[in-house]
Amino acid sequence: MRAELERLVGADAVLPGDTVAYLEDATAPLGLRGHADAIVLPRTAEEVARVVAWCYERGIAIVPRGGGTGFAGGAVPFEGGVVIALERLARVRALDPLAWRAQVEAGVPTAQVRRLARESGLYFPPDPGAAEQSQIGGNVATNAGGPHAFKYGVTGRWVTGIEAVVAPGELVTVGGPIRKDQSGYDLRGLLVGSEGTLGIITAVWLRLVPAPEAAHPVVAFFDSTASGCEAIERVLGSGLVPAAVEYLDGATLAIAAPAFPGCVPRRAGFMLLTEADGTREEAARLRSDLAEVLGETALAVRAPESAAEIAELWRWREGIALAATAKHGGKLGEDIAVPVDRLADAIEGVLAIGGRLGLEALSFGHAGDGNLHANFLFDPGAAGTLERARAAAGEAAELGVSLGGSVSGEHGLGWLKRGQLARQWGPRALELHASVKQAFDPKGLFNPGKKS
Ligand SMILES: Cc1cc2nc3c(=O)[nH]c(=O)nc-3n(C[C@H](O)[C@H](O)[C@H](O)COP(=O)(O)OP(=O)(O)OC[C@H]3O[C@@H](n4cnc5c(N)ncnc54)[C@H](O)[C@@H]3O)c2cc1C
Repeated sequence: MRAELERLVGADAVLPGDTVAYLEDATAPLGLRGHADAIVLPRTAEEVARVVAWCYERGIAIVPRGGGTGFAGGAVPFEGGVVIALERLARVRALDPLAWRAQVEAGVPTAQVRRLARESGLYFPPDPGAAEQSQIGGNVATNAGGPHAFKYGVTGRWVTGIEAVVAPGELVTVGGPIRKDQSGYDLRGLLVGSEGTLGIITAVWLRLVPAPEAAHPVVAFFDSTASGCEAIERVLGSGLVPAAVEYLDGATLAIAAPAFPGCVPRRAGFMLLTEADGTREEAARLRSDLAEVLGETALAVRAPESAAEIAELWRWREGIALAATAKHGGKLGEDIAVPVDRLADAIEGVLAIGGRLGLEALSFGHAGDGNLHANFLFDPGAAGTLERARAAAGEAAELGVSLGGSVSGEHGLGWLKRGQLARQWGPRALELHASVKQAFDPKGLFNPGKKS
């Protein structure tokens, strides 16, 4: 197999199937590792098409891989086959600052896209947490979110066109550098969030916007989840539009408080991190409005002003997941999303599940979007705790659905949450879902076992 693949893409673009770096993603701490027959690193979309055609003809599974930062095991080749890693498709094909748009290949790291925009005075808002490692193709394939999705929307909202290799190995383009397209069914929308199960994204056209002149965080501490969630609804009800509305529940705060860049009130049991952006005047006005509205019931409100303090605050926010994992060595999470007015019920429900199953539970996440990172901590060395964490994660998914929400707000179903869509959708909707897969991938070779 390797010799034939080498003939298609060159010897230096094929690695042995047991190259561990391509067999795991961010689920590796849970012990998830796949196995592959070969790893291919194509340099062009045409090479991707050639490899897909070769696999498709022979009935060999194809697993697309971006930066490997996914939390759902989506890029892990559990059923063998050929891993197609996109890291060498890393060209910026076009950047047109005056028209606020760019065309980049799938393997460009997310942070590079954001830097590129910024250097031209523009802004690419999606900011999932592992931006230096994740790739734009992976972000589109998972429709990634992040803190700023509250005001600006998730990745798909910024994608106007996609070039992809679909079965049986053909390069297609849907959309392009156009801001509107009401021609056919929304194939672009289907590829967004398809987690490598419908085809391989090789390039995307992105919409950009002029960068906000200023962005000021406003942090508020509350004595309880109920009072913090009530403050979120008060902010929304006041017609204020923060760029981000992030939260930490009391259990997360207890773990993360020692590293907080500032002082955390002793009685704090809930924290909100909001951000006011816009022109200098807009951002300053919104900052003071947020401080006033949150301050009505907060124990304390802080609004750091210097660039260094602000950077430190966001760095701290990015480290929360790691700090939670470090407490017992393992954590299993669900990224459920609920209507924002059910957020308090979801947060309390997660703690109750942990209590019932004898596990430390906590949640944090994107409050404005009702998106929780509900985590159950476990000691990987202690017998039976991972199994209990799995049971707890299943209950958290059920909780999300029972509150009118989704089993996945951000990370996708991947492999870890396979089978969970049936909790959320009825039989006819599931049938349509399967028909879409069948239409794109009649042999079922693109990322088998995922997103179903
Ligand atoms: C510390 C940390 C913080 C995170 N924070 C967030 C967050 O705030 N919001 C959020 O949404 N996610 C977050 N994530 C999850 C992860 O970063 C995102 O899901 C990201 O979009 C995955 O991109 P990737 O390039 O690493 O994709 P991978 O992990 O490599 O792949 C993810 C899925 O996409 C498919 N795929 C990858 N590239 C392609 C392609 N070119 N064509 C077709 N399919 C492809 C894979 O097959 C797989 O199913 C975080 C992860 C970490 C480790």
